Amino acid sequence: MAMGFENTKEQLKVKTEIRCMTCDYKIVRDFQQGDFVPKIVGQCPKDGGQLYIAGIYAENIAPAQKK
Ligand SMILES: [Zn+2]
Repeated sequence: MAMGFENTKEQLKVKTEIRCMTCDYKIVRDFQQGDFVPKIVGQCPKDGGQLYIAGIYAENIAPAQKK
């Protein structure tokens, strides 16, 4: 099965999951250049703990599927 990478690029959105080391705070934002696991990316707004990148994944955005 051949997949065109140029097409795939438009349908995948890469997300970065950020978690706090000391509480259950978690956010997901768009992937940014330079993101990697487990990069420290800031401070938690809830308890001031360190926020780190817990995961990076591609979200498949199906382009208007018609059934
Ligand atoms: Zn926290």
